[in-house]
Amino acid sequence: MAVAWLVAACALLQSSATGKHADIFGEEEAVKRAVKDADAAGERFREIFGVAPVKVAVILQKDGKPLPDTKADQACYKNGAKFIFRWEKKPGYDEMTHELGHLWLLVWIDGLPKAPPREPRYGSTLPDWADEGVATLFDDEAMRARYRVDMRKYLSGKVPSLDELFDSVHPESRQPGAEERRAKDRWLFYCQTNSVMEYVLEKHGAESLRHVIATLKKGKGMAPALGAKGLPKTVEELEKAWREWASAEQ
Ligand SMILES: [Zn+2]
Repeated sequence: MAVAWLVAACALLQSSATGKHADIFGEEEAVKRAVKDADAAGERFREIFGVAPVKVAVILQKDGKPLPDTKADQACYKNGAKFIFRWEKKPGYDEMTHELGHLWLLVWIDGLPKAPPREPRYGSTLPDWADEGVATLFDDEAMRARYRVDMRKYLSGKVPSLDELFDSVHPESRQPGAEERRAKDRWLFYCQTNSVMEYVLEKHGAESLRHVIATLKKGKGMAPALGAKGLPKTVEELEKAWREWASAEQ
């Protein structure tokens, strides 16, 4: 009897909301917040990249539950979601919209994975700095202000050159041969990748940012993207302009 009651109570806690860019499943209050956040992030994605992000079903987990269930999960696709993303808020800086930024970018750049991976792979085939930098554009405003303020502080000391940043891999990268190229300071990596992306977006506009991403997708690095769409002509010039912009009080 007690168990039956508990099951019924849990079922009552489950709620869902259909948004424009994401359908959310979970506890009622969390669902309400998440659908607003996800839709705002989805609109931002559309404004920046000129395309709507792929529709996603977000299952808000608590203590790792509910677990993936092939049959039950089918219901999450009923409003047009193309894949399921399970997300659990953890203490620290991980943000649902940041992770959605990774997923939306990945699908936009590389297409939908043929079979849904068991462990979602967040990174696209873009260079790590660009992948992380784009995702940080989808963090909330408070987090983006922190990146900005801390980057300014970092710039009064020694920070990796843009050539070094563009050649580095994520501080947690496990890709073969990553050891030597791994960015050493995790927080600096986030602040710097965010700062470069914000610089391109704010100073040169969304079209320039799209041009950078399209060039990086070809796998030839950042240099060939420069000198077009109002961007500085060389990495050296970009570095100078970015440092000036990022060091100034915004
Ligand atoms: Zn990230």
